[in-house]
Amino acid sequence: MEEMSELFYRDSYCREFTAAVTECFPYKGHYAVVLEDTAFYPEGGGQPGDRGTLNGIEVFDTCRREGKILHICAGPLEPGTEAEGKLDWKYRFDNMQSHTGEHVFSGLVHRRFGYENVGFHMGREMITLDFDGPFSFEEALEIERTANERIWADLPVFITFPSEEELANIPYRSKKELSGKVRIVTIPESDICACCGTHVTDLGQIGIIKALTCSPHKGGTRVDILAGERAYEYLRNIWSNNREVARLLRCKEAETGNETQRVLNESLQKDIRRSKLMKEYVGFIVGDLPEQKLHILYEEEKTVNELRLLGNRILDEKKAVICALFSEGNDGYNYLILSNEPDLRPLCKQLNQKLNGRGGGSKEMVSGSFKAAREEIEAALKEVLDAAD
Ligand SMILES: [Zn+2]
Repeated sequence: MEEMSELFYRDSYCREFTAAVTECFPYKGHYAVVLEDTAFYPEGGGQPGDRGTLNGIEVFDTCRREGKILHICAGPLEPGTEAEGKLDWKYRFDNMQSHTGEHVFSGLVHRRFGYENVGFHMGREMITLDFDGPFSFEEALEIERTANERIWADLPVFITFPSEEELANIPYRSKKELSGKVRIVTIPESDICACCGTHVTDLGQIGIIKALTCSPHKGGTRVDILAGERAYEYLRNIWSNNREVARLLRCKEAETGNETQRVLNESLQKDIRRSKLMKEYVGFIVGDLPEQKLHILYEEEKTVNELRLLGNRILDEKKAVICALFSEGNDGYNYLILSNEPDLRPLCKQLNQKLNGRGGGSKEMVSGSFKAAREEIEAALKEVLDAAD
């Protein structure tokens, strides 16, 4: 069959069809089935291959190899028999929405800046577009708005096969030099592009386009966009999430940004106040401590940094050589031990053994937990330190 005359080109909305099986052979652990004609689009031009079933047998993927369209199937089909093909239409229509959306966006970028689309990937999550020149996110959002205006105008998508002479006068976009039969996709006021993919017939079927990210990439610009149902699902998800944030912050849905900023500022002020109070508290505690070899303190509701502040201050003011700080934990106590002189690592190992503990650290600081009672911990600590002398 002549290329570009396949069923998916004659009717991109064909979801079910019958065709004779001409070949079937093992292929990469599955089976490749070739049909006399097919509505399954083979991967190409950035658009993924179709999925669906042939006589109820799953088709995972469709690709073109040496001029033949291979339906990659879970099982074999008998050559000479008729196959009933059914497309995974949700998947294909999603690809048609995304692909046509890409045309509108890339076409508008080309019309405004003259940049070419030099990379196009329809991923599982989103469509990634690479352009060969720089533009800002604000400009990408302006393109997004114009693209949506084109969708609301429900402009038609024309497919033509111009002759070589006609082609010479058409200002179309293309990623490569083309010869022979060229398929031109034209969307008024938006795009003219040589393309072999499947498209919707009218832009209204895309519904919506959303640009998500826009960043410099290899001297040009990379943009991630969503089109069609995917864009709707994405926005619905974000809306739902924002609604929950608004409920938690007790503010209007359009004010979550400002309100979050206010809450974060408040939290930062609390942190600053706490930090000041902590310094005063540490000075107060350390000032009263006598000078001795070991200090053991029990401190609740403190962060690790606050405990370190306290321990270091005790060591800095020479109130102890070793400072052990404890707070209540699961079935025991969490510890943070700091030292000015003795290497804590061997001591920590012995303590962990004696007190059913875990943890470790450096020469100057160890942390972890002991599953033991207060008295046991203090006795073990003194015993280990005395033995180390
Ligand atoms: Zn296309």
